[in-house]
Amino acid sequence: MSPGPTPALSALRTPQAKCLTVGGRADGGFLQYVQLLNPRNSMSITNTKGLLNMPGQNNCFLNSAVQVLWHLDIFRRSFRELNGHACMEDSCIFCALKELFAQFQYSQESALPPDALRRALAETFCDQRRFQLGFMDDAAECFENILMRIHFHIANNESEDMCSAAHCIPHQKFAMTLVEQTVCHACGATSEPLPFTQMVHYVPSSALCSQAKLMKEKNEPLPNFSELLKRAGGLGDLRDCPSSCGAVIQIRKTLMNRPEIVSVGLVWDSERNH
Ligand SMILES: [Zn+2]
Ligand SMILES: [Zn+2]
Ligand SMILES: [Zn+2]
Repeated sequence: MSPGPTPALSALRTPQAKCLTVGGRADGGFLQYVQLLNPRNSMSITNTKGLLNMPGQNNCFLNSAVQVLWHLDIFRRSFRELNGHACMEDSCIFCALKELFAQFQYSQESALPPDALRRALAETFCDQRRFQLGFMDDAAECFENILMRIHFHIANNESEDMCSAAHCIPHQKFAMTLVEQTVCHACGATSEPLPFTQMVHYVPSSALCSQAKLMKEKNEPLPNFSELLKRAGGLGDLRDCPSSCGAVIQIRKTLMNRPEIVSVGLVWDSERNH
């Protein structure tokens, strides 16, 4: 993304869902967030401000993630009500995000510097050499990591996979609880169910395109986006039969909960960036 203030998110209204779309990395990162329709959670974009990205800063990935969080009413309102947290002082992502959100709300400026949050993020992930100052990084991963850090700051010692803290916004509002299992269509053998949680549902854009093409070739009517997402989600995720009968089967993932916010990350191949 070119330097300068990040443009505000574009809101796209459809009868079933509201989608927030935000551009990510120049080499193809892209996030789309779907807020399930619920009249009580209706989205209101009241304060639209940009975030600064001066030459050499490469803030675009962070700015994208922050804009998504700010424009999600559910997140913004719940986060505003959170106070107590395990503070990390200068490298506290919780405090830096709070401060930035306060500026979004009260500042007279049209574009804000995300510098404090950028520094906190860089310090927190210093050991892993990720999200370092001046370097480009991935918007979807940044978004996920900010959520995980908020969990860390407020959920005491609850584990990332099985967090039941009632005030933990990341897990209560965003987490998708899934069970992964393979069921053989030839011999009926099943694998051990594997439960896990995820914050972002990643789908390759190429899988969406090939699924749509396939349906067009078969003259099937094109489904809505969520149906296409479902069909494309498991595409190519193949395993051998759990009792080795020789069949190759598609892995089955079942969503066990109904999160208020479903985050979808569209993965673009860098070489075929279009
Ligand atoms: Zn703090
Ligand atoms: Zn949590
Ligand atoms: Zn089998």
